[in-house]
Amino acid sequence: MVADKLTRLARHIGISGGEPLVRDDIMDIMAYIAERAESMSMQSNLILMDYTKAKALADMGLRTLYTSLDGPSPIYHEALRGEGTWRALMRGIRIIKKAGLKFSTVTTINSLNWKVVDKTAKLSETLGASAACFIPIVPIGRARGKGLMPTPRQMREAVEKLRSLASELSIPIVLWCAPFAIGLGDGEIYVSPCTDKGLDVDPMGRVLLCDTMDIQISDMRKTVDEITWDLKHNEHLILAANRRPDPCSSCPYYEFCRGGCVARSYLVYGKFDAPDPLCPIASGVTGGKS
Ligand code: SF4
Repeated sequence: MVADKLTRLARHIGISGGEPLVRDDIMDIMAYIAERAESMSMQSNLILMDYTKAKALADMGLRTLYTSLDGPSPIYHEALRGEGTWRALMRGIRIIKKAGLKFSTVTTINSLNWKVVDKTAKLSETLGASAACFIPIVPIGRARGKGLMPTPRQMREAVEKLRSLASELSIPIVLWCAPFAIGLGDGEIYVSPCTDKGLDVDPMGRVLLCDTMDIQISDMRKTVDEITWDLKHNEHLILAANRRPDPCSSCPYYEFCRGGCVARSYLVYGKFDAPDPLCPIASGVTGGKS
């Protein structure tokens, strides 16, 4: 069983989608994982959330429920997710709060909302989230070719806005998939490195280099030992971990950033050996803070 192998391969299990709540058996899967994993989280748009499910997830010890909040008002959110999604989100948040389930918001920074990231973080706090998480857009799926990528300059301004707000906010601001932000401005936000400790598995059971790239590095049909071997020896993983393109080779933030988001480089430039296209330092917008 895939859930069984996952709990032997990783201490924390994060369930995302698509939308996990469309599965009839999702609560059984979550209960199974809850009994075996050290911790678990779930990503949901909350449209199908009801009080019974929310209470059951809270009782199972779900660490965090992540839900998307793409701006401080319906205009931004529904521009990406469609009409009616804002109302459904607010309803879902009311339900999970009533059930005592902790949640964090996740905002995709794009060319439409980069100016209002600070207002979005503020709203996240007002709604009662535990953290306001941000992730610069990765050009896949519906986001591809729609002009939704911010420019490196806009990206720098967005990070500066978040940094200026951080000390006023009672909840942490977390930035994922943008390790280059370590070199942009001052102010306490948590910039996450690109971790190679996670395991991204698609609905077919393929283990992917990253859930945004269709590059297979192993398969859940293999044994746990075989998967572990693949994770140590896969050529794409090794290539991604060791890339050092120009100008990253002379960058003071390289040891943390390691060229930024490899998926964004691969999807925009068609190769690993290129810096993150959103990095303001690599693109010459700024020399960084030092
Ligand atoms: S120049 Fe390269 S290593 Fe430096 S912050 Fe930008 S992407 Fe990261």
